[in-house]
Amino acid sequence: MKNIIIFGAPGSGKGTYSDAIVERYGMGHISTGDVLRAEIKNETELGKVAQGYISNGQLIPDDLMIDILAKTYDAQPAGKGVIFDGFPRTIAQAEALKKMLAERGHEMGVMVELVVEEDILMARLLNRAKEQGRADDNEETIKKRFAVYQNQTAPLIDWFEREGIRHTFRWADTPNKEAMIESIFAFLDTVK
Ligand code: AMP
Repeated sequence: MKNIIIFGAPGSGKGTYSDAIVERYGMGHISTGDVLRAEIKNETELGKVAQGYISNGQLIPDDLMIDILAKTYDAQPAGKGVIFDGFPRTIAQAEALKKMLAERGHEMGVMVELVVEEDILMARLLNRAKEQGRADDNEETIKKRFAVYQNQTAPLIDWFEREGIRHTFRWADTPNKEAMIESIFAFLDTVK
């Protein structure tokens, strides 16, 4: 399978659809949020730095993130393709990802964009707070994360469009998880 970049606002379903994609296509999965949460749990130096940014709804600085991403990517099994979940989140990260992959003779593959209305995102994240107790899933931090997404991450949509790899899936068109998964699979089956 080609590499896949799964992209969308907090709560758009990146983790959920990544899991379904991994199960079907047997590829690697890099969730930078999960990598950072594991560092925090293990009380590493990186975890200590990351905690302040995450609990405040801010992004971890690009140079740190790019370094983590490269190390995590190089630890993946070769040749199966990887799904990037939560990375890139800035133009600098996208440029770095493209360069890192090119240096290894690999490509970005395809970008899967998930578009979900903001009121639905908020409801999902507040529900996730109850179910999973994630420290950054409270209303105040969620609002900050939406603002960070709009200001720093959403400009990447045009970047991916220019790269010619953007493929958009709208919750409003298929407001049902199974139907979303089926339409994503139908697309990915054509790009294998
Ligand atoms: P996520 O689980 O993807 O929603 O990420 C949770 C938090 O981890 C984000 O709100 C950021 O603080 C941090 N984070 C995850 N991925 C990145 C990234 N690519 N760049 C900067 N910060 C990140």
